[in-house]
Amino acid sequence: MGLTLRNQQQRDGAPGDGCRLCRNRSAVLKDSHIIPKWAWRVSRTRGAANPEAVTVEDGVAYQTSHQIVEKLLCADCEERFSVFEGYVRSLVYTDGTSAPIFDKAETQPIVRRTDTGEEARYLPLDNVDVDKIARFAISVFWRSHVAKRDNAGQVDLGATHGEHFRQFLLGRRAFPSSSALLLSLLAPDDEEGACFNRTVCVPITNRDTVGVRHEFIICGFIFELHTGINSWTKKSRWLRDTACLMRHGRRLAALMPAKDSRLIRVVHAQVKTAEVRVKGMYSNRTRAGTVPRKLR
Ligand SMILES: [Zn+2]
Repeated sequence: MGLTLRNQQQRDGAPGDGCRLCRNRSAVLKDSHIIPKWAWRVSRTRGAANPEAVTVEDGVAYQTSHQIVEKLLCADCEERFSVFEGYVRSLVYTDGTSAPIFDKAETQPIVRRTDTGEEARYLPLDNVDVDKIARFAISVFWRSHVAKRDNAGQVDLGATHGEHFRQFLLGRRAFPSSSALLLSLLAPDDEEGACFNRTVCVPITNRDTVGVRHEFIICGFIFELHTGINSWTKKSRWLRDTACLMRHGRRLAALMPAKDSRLIRVVHAQVKTAEVRVKGMYSNRTRAGTVPRKLR
């Protein structure tokens, strides 16, 4: 089932005509997707009378094919991002049961301790281009950060991190040492949670005990970006040394049952309490039959 969670928030006007990434002021801007177009396609329910993703916006559930676009990037920068997007697209869940990343990694899950000392399963990403995955994730967080559209997510990286990540995406700066990027994969053996494998949730920002946490979900991949981690507590050391995709050494993705994902629980709760209604010309009324029983 496709499911998206959007939040309405009016963005402050940001400066600038011209490309937001390379800052070329004379460039013609393209309609840039905040979340790649293919994710919305994957999140559709094939064969259903109304196949469109269920979207929750301000507590209202509706089905829509309407995608979030904004003129942000020039053709060259769109192309730069499309390389990362194409790679991630080749790894995510496209149906409820499996995702190519599990074959590509060519490794068995291993057990490691989490920051709370519990044992958890991790997939070593030995044969996977982790750098491309990381740049994809940062590009989505950054697009949401610079977008003015009110439903482009509500990421606020702050001016310093926003600029650092812009330069990181251009290959001019290293990943900031006060940040950590985590990837969790919805576990392929989690039958109960399989209905969430094609869920899409636009990026959001929350405050955490160790800093600021930004997150989004795309087709079984849950990305968490922690910024402003300055005090190296036990939790922040774990984020940097064990969990971060940009760490030195063997890179790991957590294998997670859907019920353990905070963001999935938020989406689930929103759908359960959402008022179902017809919205705009893009949608039909969400019928009970299109939302799995677990979500009602
Ligand atoms: Zn550009």
